[in-house]
Amino acid sequence: MALDSKIPHGPISDKWTDYKDHINLVNPANKRNLDIIIVGTGLAGGSAAATLAEQGYNVKAFCFQDSPRRAHSIAAQGGINAAKNYKGDGDSVYRLFYDTVKGGDYRAREANVHRLAEVSANIIDQCVAQGVPLAREYGGLLDNRSFGGTLVSRTFYAQGQTGQQLLLGAYSAMNRQIGRGKIKMYNRHEMLDIVIVNGKARGIIARNLITGEIERHSAHAVVVGSGGYGNVFFLSTNAMGSNATAAWKIHKKGAFFANPCYTQIHPTCIPVSGDHQSKLTLMSESLRNDGRIWVPAKQEDAKAIREGKKKATDLSEAERDYFLERRYPAFGNLVPRDVASRAAKERCDAGFGVNKTGEAVYLDFAAAIKRYGTEEAFVKGLDANDAALVTKLGAEIVKSKYGNLFQMYYKIVDEDPYTTPMMIYPAVHYTMGGTWVDYNLMTTIPGCFSIGESNFSDHGANRLGASALMQGLADGYFVLPYTIGDYLAPDIKMGEISTDLPEFVAAEKEVKDQIDRFINNKGTHSVDYFHKKLGKIMWDKVGMARNAKGLTEAIEEIAALREEFYKDVKVPGSANEFNQELEKATRVADFLELGELFAKDALHRNESCGGHFREEYQTEEGEALRDDENFAYVAAWEYKGKPSDAVLHKEPLVYENIKLVQRSYK
Ligand SMILES: Cc1cc2nc3c(=O)[nH]c(=O)nc-3n(C[C@H](O)[C@H](O)[C@H](O)COP(=O)(O)OP(=O)(O)OC[C@H]3O[C@@H](n4cnc5c(N)ncnc54)[C@H](O)[C@@H]3O)c2cc1C
Repeated sequence: MALDSKIPHGPISDKWTDYKDHINLVNPANKRNLDIIIVGTGLAGGSAAATLAEQGYNVKAFCFQDSPRRAHSIAAQGGINAAKNYKGDGDSVYRLFYDTVKGGDYRAREANVHRLAEVSANIIDQCVAQGVPLAREYGGLLDNRSFGGTLVSRTFYAQGQTGQQLLLGAYSAMNRQIGRGKIKMYNRHEMLDIVIVNGKARGIIARNLITGEIERHSAHAVVVGSGGYGNVFFLSTNAMGSNATAAWKIHKKGAFFANPCYTQIHPTCIPVSGDHQSKLTLMSESLRNDGRIWVPAKQEDAKAIREGKKKATDLSEAERDYFLERRYPAFGNLVPRDVASRAAKERCDAGFGVNKTGEAVYLDFAAAIKRYGTEEAFVKGLDANDAALVTKLGAEIVKSKYGNLFQMYYKIVDEDPYTTPMMIYPAVHYTMGGTWVDYNLMTTIPGCFSIGESNFSDHGANRLGASALMQGLADGYFVLPYTIGDYLAPDIKMGEISTDLPEFVAAEKEVKDQIDRFINNKGTHSVDYFHKKLGKIMWDKVGMARNAKGLTEAIEEIAALREEFYKDVKVPGSANEFNQELEKATRVADFLELGELFAKDALHRNESCGGHFREEYQTEEGEALRDDENFAYVAAWEYKGKPSDAVLHKEPLVYENIKLVQRSYK
């Protein structure tokens, strides 16, 4: 099957407008005749559900949590980008487009990224209209801060809780439609398969997670906004429940999976502290606005710190190596995440790590506290030479910007980041890969759309900070509501789709059979036992640095682990009750397939780009070395029975507006 990305013709800045002007529309009265299923009510699915219902469609929305308010989007801390140029620092739609393509190491689709940059400003207006309390400056204008990979301040934020506030906005908009009966909300429901009738997505099979009942739901189109698959690594900054099942199930029924190996390892997370952990905690990238990253300049000092003989604060400025500022003077601590993560790993691997395991670097706010405190003392006419006063005033400013993050760090690590630097280390955070979609956000299954983190997205091989919320809300509020109409227009007279069709019966049987198999397996090991093993293979061999040998081993090991899982997994309880072990089993079964495809994709991509770092392909300075001649394409995998048989399709990436050059942040 040939991939058709359906990118409109014409100049990049006119594509979206022209396209919208000419696609099919469904008139308001006919929208009432059309049903849309939305799987996932995070920022992407929630915004789509609210908008489509507002337009008049009948929406059925599903989430596995007890409320849309608990979607993983709620965890987003640092902010959301938009090209508003409020700071007058030279920002524009083009710059946001350019920064995103460059940040993604030239592996994103130009037309989609430009559209994203165009609608970014609308998102902020929409959210402000909903009452989302974005931070404001003294004069009342919305405030901005900087994120990695840019030289402007374009990130809108609500302290360290931006995702939560945006989600409350989307959730309020959804609730209005739930109240009107236009959205039927299915909380605590998990989609376990898609139903395809005559080649088109026409429904889903879902499990009621409270009663265990298996349900059939039909619609004229299915939208998947089920989030990312970072939990394939077991340990990640994602919510514990985040999983790939919806995306993987549609993959198995015909949706190509794109660039599975593009995963983001975020540089500023609280380091792993032991085997007992089931989750890692992010310290937002916004902290890199004011925090300076360093390790001791001498290995002896690093060793003394690891052994508890010295403290960070014992080291003078001359004894510190601010390695990002040293290596990347232009962007300093605000280089993109992939660059910052690799630089931290390089220092730790070289023996400069500062925690007991040697896998941590410092993120230090002392300079910012002093800078803010001095300014504040000056503004208030107080003594700027009084060190204690300056520290107190500076700490108050830092608290107003990042207070909740500092509190979180203190509660987890039991150290006060106002007085001693934070310790941080890279951790799995975001997945740029996902289901392949065309310009309409439709997968290779007609009528099945994918939005937000679950699609292969606009971020290429590395996502810039504060761009996921932008993409999810762009997809849900401003893109899908147009493009889905184009697809649905011919269906206006079709009427309700029966769930008695044989395709529903067959899909339901498949789901029930899988559940019965797990319940009756009576193995000896828990689901987590296998998930942890998978995570270790992924981190060691498919993680921050990859090579052909490790990837080949990983592919074999994951396939063997999957076999062992099916023979030996133990799922207690029954199918007809609230059974979280059963939920985990179906999710981990999918991770065990996805993990293998992930490694296969990483092995085939004989280049380094963004978050995909192949040790064989690097510059003398240890930077990612792309091979544009052979790999400037989206790798879209077609399922053929098992991951090892997946067939590769290539969507060439054409750069007409941005020149392909090796990325530099110096
Ligand atoms: C700690 C943290 C901080 C972050 N901070 C930022 C930030 O500051 N700025 C930024 O831009 N990005 C940030 N990100 C990334 C961003 O939060 C996510 O990419 C984004 O919120 C994903 O939104 P989503 O709607 O695609 O998916 P999610 O919010 O993950 O929602 C997924 C939805 O799908 C549902 N679902 C999944 N599977 C099924 C199924 N099988 N059946 C039924 N329902 C299902 C879930 O119940 C949920 O409703 C952060 C990520 C993390 C982990």
